[in-house]
Amino acid sequence: MKVEDIREIAVIGAGQMGGGIAQVCAATGYDVLLLDASVERAEQGKRRIASVLGKQVEKGKLPAEDRDALLAHVKPTAPDGYLGNADLVIEAATEEQSLKIDLFKRTDQRMKPGAILASNTSSISITRLAGQTQRPESVIGMHFMNPVPLMKLVELVRGVQTSDATMDVIRALAERLGKTVITSKDQPGFVVNRMLVPFLNEACFVLQEGLGTPEDIDAGARLGLNHPMGPLELADLIGLDTLLFIAEVLHREFGDDKYRPATLLRNLVAAGWYGRKVGRGFYTYDDKGIKTGRAFER
Ligand code: NAD
Repeated sequence: MKVEDIREIAVIGAGQMGGGIAQVCAATGYDVLLLDASVERAEQGKRRIASVLGKQVEKGKLPAEDRDALLAHVKPTAPDGYLGNADLVIEAATEEQSLKIDLFKRTDQRMKPGAILASNTSSISITRLAGQTQRPESVIGMHFMNPVPLMKLVELVRGVQTSDATMDVIRALAERLGKTVITSKDQPGFVVNRMLVPFLNEACFVLQEGLGTPEDIDAGARLGLNHPMGPLELADLIGLDTLLFIAEVLHREFGDDKYRPATLLRNLVAAGWYGRKVGRGFYTYDDKGIKTGRAFER
């Protein structure tokens, strides 16, 4: 397959990442099927894209016709909807290995021969996901960054069996989407999250051990390290559930206790305080996603 052959793209998982991926694909002119665990959730994903674009129209940054044209490319689809015309499927569902293994088995059977199956996973082995399919040479990691429309990077992950042809087509596609590509070997966390997640987890330990307040920790990284966001703010943006899943993959796969997730992170996830997407994590957020204060005092 050549990049010119890609016309229809299916995105599985209509959360913050899947919605962003669908948006950039539709903005580039691709027809996008958007799937989630139910058609209602897929429709909700499309409404979130419409709301993001609506704000850009209000600010005069996007003509209303362009918004309407983009949205016309996005088709919410039932979880068992037809995938036989999709040239590429990008999986962006919850970062849980058993869920992705099941999705890969079932999705592969519904795709046409030669179509590419990519995962936006942050940490899970691409080779293991590819092993669930009859097309391991056409399975690849295509790791977008959050928020997808703003962040320039796409990290491509080559599984043991990923073909050169698959790498070439997906690299060309990422560039068409306006992204810059780096590549990683298939090891837990790849390049970006192997560096980032231990840092964010360490910030949880720093808070848990009472070295400083959340504001101290975040200002320390913003003003002291020149990071655009502090680690607790960034953890809330990523989603604490997703962060814990990634930390658990690093810990389990490397078998090294330096990757053990902080108890505080486990507790916040157990409480359902997943961060900005639910309005509460380390901080609280209003319904526009603006930070309103600290979520807890101790
Ligand atoms: P999210 O919680 O916002 O969205 C996950 C979506 O998957 C939800 O809408 C959920 O309903 C859906 N889902 C669950 N089970 C499903 C199933 N069986 N079939 C279809 N859909 C299903 O999470 P997210 O932040 O969008 O993360 C999604 C993926 O992207 C994960 O693999 C994550 O590691 C990766 N990722 C996340 C970030 C980030 O900063 N959050 C960055 C890069 C990559």
